[in-house]
Amino acid sequence: MSRTFLIIAEHRDGKLRQVTAEALQAALLASGDGDRISAVLLGSGTEPLAEELSSFPLSEIHVVDDPGLSAYNPEAYTAVLGELIEAVRPDAVFMGHTAMGRDIAPALAAKLQAGQLSDVIAIERNDGDGTVLFTRPIYAGKALEKKTFVQFPWVVTVRPNNFPAAPSLEGHRAPVVKAGIAAPSQLRTIVKDVVRKTSGKVDLTEAKVIVSGGRGVKNADGFKPLEELAALLVGAVGASRGACDAGYCDYALQIGQTGKVVTPELYIACGISGAIQHLAGMSGSRVIVAINKDPEAPIFKVADYGIVGDLFEVVPLLTQEFRKVLG
Ligand code: FAD
Repeated sequence: MSRTFLIIAEHRDGKLRQVTAEALQAALLASGDGDRISAVLLGSGTEPLAEELSSFPLSEIHVVDDPGLSAYNPEAYTAVLGELIEAVRPDAVFMGHTAMGRDIAPALAAKLQAGQLSDVIAIERNDGDGTVLFTRPIYAGKALEKKTFVQFPWVVTVRPNNFPAAPSLEGHRAPVVKAGIAAPSQLRTIVKDVVRKTSGKVDLTEAKVIVSGGRGVKNADGFKPLEELAALLVGAVGASRGACDAGYCDYALQIGQTGKVVTPELYIACGISGAIQHLAGMSGSRVIVAINKDPEAPIFKVADYGIVGDLFEVVPLLTQEFRKVLG
């Protein structure tokens, strides 16, 4: 029996977020021959995004373009997606485990009467019987659990930066369908303004390189050498909660159990002890470099490369050496 998968596309500043192509890749892994994968795009002035999305291996793109959807509003987005889901009746919904995905997935699961799995990091499909095994971290990343759904429908959120992005197909143009749904006019919550507090030009959750500072940076100025290194490596700056609590940086930079979960290719932890709550947010990084003056710091247990030393000496040296290589 063929199934219908629906990807919820995310975009920011007029660009598709990479997690959309990653969620599509996850759906491709979970689907079998004859299954249909379509996407839904919500927003205002979505034409260029729909055009970009149409080159991906999708059967169709459902678009709801309405000025009432220009900024993410959980109430409006849930209402519109709920209506669309009633019409499309997908067997599975896939989206990023982003702020929006975390917010909206449970509401959609309730609407669809679906089972939900969040923060999925691996998918294995048995082509013989069609069962799909999902892996997700639990207990703040201390263990991994493998789960399968016993029945459809499913709602799945996938960890950003974890699945490769599905490739776009040259010459492919998925049809764009106007869904004929409007944003609700009566809302209990209204987004008045969006004030962005970012860690720089590169989005922390999508960064390939993160240079992170902990309480060891001593004060707000202590982040400057880290910012310099991150800029050189076209990366983002992150932080431990210790650094945020001490007022050295904004909480938008916090990585960990109660902060952002990141999976960059390179994570450089500077003056971070490596508490379990911090590891929960970064232990999935491909390569971890730790710089700490305490050789017994727990961060060295998860680090691929450890440098015992003063970060104020080591980080500028690294920047100097990288500059020689990168020009
Ligand atoms: P510290 O533990 O104080 O470590 C500072 C490190 O810097 C030390 O290892 C020291 O040796 C080193 N150092 C000092 N000076 C230098 C120098 N000049 N050069 C090199 N190294 C130096 N934490 C998070 O990070 N993220 C979370 O999401 C999070 N959520 C939490 C949720 C709960 C419910 C709780 C209870 C805690 C949470 N925490 C979280 C806090 C966590 O337990 C730690 O307290 C915190 O991660 C410590 O931050 P830190 O490593 O920067 O500071």
